Amino acid sequence: MHEMSIAESLVDIIRDEMSKNNARALKSVRLHIGEISAVVPQALSFCFHVITEGTEMEGARLDMDIVPLRGYCHPCDRDFPIENFEFACPYCGNREIETISGQDLSIVEIEVE
Ligand SMILES: [Zn+2]
Repeated sequence: MHEMSIAESLVDIIRDEMSKNNARALKSVRLHIGEISAVVPQALSFCFHVITEGTEMEGARLDMDIVPLRGYCHPCDRDFPIENFEFACPYCGNREIETISGQDLSIVEIEVE
């Protein structure tokens, strides 16, 4: 279950942020999870709660938004949703598109007290 190592690195990042801000407790964390980031939200949430049990982060709420996969075509200067792993521009058929969202996992907000 690779969610365990992801949860561990999230906890490391959050702990750094908390110490920078002299925070005593973690209230909530908001994550953006890319549609094809291969992270299962339920599994990540489970791991996060297991790791944070008994720590200053215990009981924090984990909010997760799924970010859809989007591509960008340079010649057309347009972006569009990528569906069914069809990595091509729907306007001109260009296959050298750039993936602009939906691949990564990121922390967008940390709420502490
Ligand atoms: Zn195009």
